[in-house]
Amino acid sequence: MSNHTPQYFEDFCSAAIHSIHDEGSLHSHSIPVYATSTFVFDSAEQGMNRFAGKEPGYIYSRFANPTTAAAEKLIASLEAFGLKNQDGQPLQLKALLHASGQGALATLCFSLLKAGDAVLTNTALYGGTHEFFSYLLAKAGIQTLFIDLTDNDAVALALKQHNTIKLIHIESPANPTMECTDIEAICKLAAPYGIKVSIDNTFATPYLQQPFAFGVDFVYHSATKFLNGHGTAIGGALVGRDIDLMQSTALKTFKLLGANSNPFDAFLLINGIKTLPLRMRQHSENARKVAEWLSKHPAVKKVNYNGLATHPHYALSKKQMRYPGAVMSFELKNGLEAGKRFINRLQMCTRAVSLGTVDTLISHPASMSHAIMQPEERLKAGVTDGLIRMSVGIEAVEDILKDLEQALAL
Ligand SMILES: *Cc1c(COP(=O)(O)O)cnc(C)c1O
Repeated sequence: MSNHTPQYFEDFCSAAIHSIHDEGSLHSHSIPVYATSTFVFDSAEQGMNRFAGKEPGYIYSRFANPTTAAAEKLIASLEAFGLKNQDGQPLQLKALLHASGQGALATLCFSLLKAGDAVLTNTALYGGTHEFFSYLLAKAGIQTLFIDLTDNDAVALALKQHNTIKLIHIESPANPTMECTDIEAICKLAAPYGIKVSIDNTFATPYLQQPFAFGVDFVYHSATKFLNGHGTAIGGALVGRDIDLMQSTALKTFKLLGANSNPFDAFLLINGIKTLPLRMRQHSENARKVAEWLSKHPAVKKVNYNGLATHPHYALSKKQMRYPGAVMSFELKNGLEAGKRFINRLQMCTRAVSLGTVDTLISHPASMSHAIMQPEERLKAGVTDGLIRMSVGIEAVEDILKDLEQALAL
């Protein structure tokens, strides 16, 4: 019953439920919340051996904790689900559970980069990622080149021109325009230079997209969103293919940053993940119907959703994703004023930033998540003043449409 590898399961749904079990001696059915900061040594020698890595066992919860470790194992299993390494063996991955998605990004960047290095990334990005690169990395002497990563020729040219690039960071689908980057093409372009590739897989989750299948080195998540699924905790995960690097440099960076999660948030995350495939299917099904409905509505100028045949990356999204996901953005014909009016009139849908919860969340990026950016930068990232972002929930789609209809009515 215990220790199932992801390859044991025919289907992702079973892996999401059964990939981990409590390793304690009391046969707890659920993974317990190990609310402890430290762990007891039987002897001085045992303590020494644990610190020296000669003996397994927990030391201190900033380094590792049984509840957070279970969540790490679960996320790594799901990102690796059904995948093989170069030798045809089941792919092994290592995850580190962080306090937030931003924490996971910090471990990624400070593990790989030093002053003088550069990151190549996309112009349209999650607001916090953009600011992390342009503010914190810049202060550390690490440059970020923001280009259109969906343009493979532009990527090839940038790699040729800048020998300082050490990391290509993808976000696909990207917030808030749902632009998709060809993950496989980017990995192929990076390989001859030995450049690492990371991807923010928050919008897709491993159920909709498994970037390790296309050759990335790292996946990171804001586990706050669809992985948790219920909006009950903040969390982040960094998942890596190079186990040695994850257990040495990345783990060291993680410990020194103090970027660790905590047992209670990890417990909530584990419970949320059990229903991940069910939720993602329903989210995607509802989102497709909402996007089609919105694109026919007279008050709507444009809908950005990678599951619509009119989206420029519809075919690519189909190639690399199981379903297109729950997040979309749309623009109202009468700009900012229409946007505010619409948001204020919502009855059921939730007015909030964030995404990936069971309820439908609606926000206004220009005044909320992307407010910190300069207006020109915002426009380059596709965030116009009248843009509305929507994370379609798993309520009955009829009720979502009813709410949108009354809020859009003149
Ligand atoms: C929320 C989010 C993040 C940041 O995650 P936190 O958990 O808030 O730190 C990063 N990327 C994307 C795409 C997000 O939606």
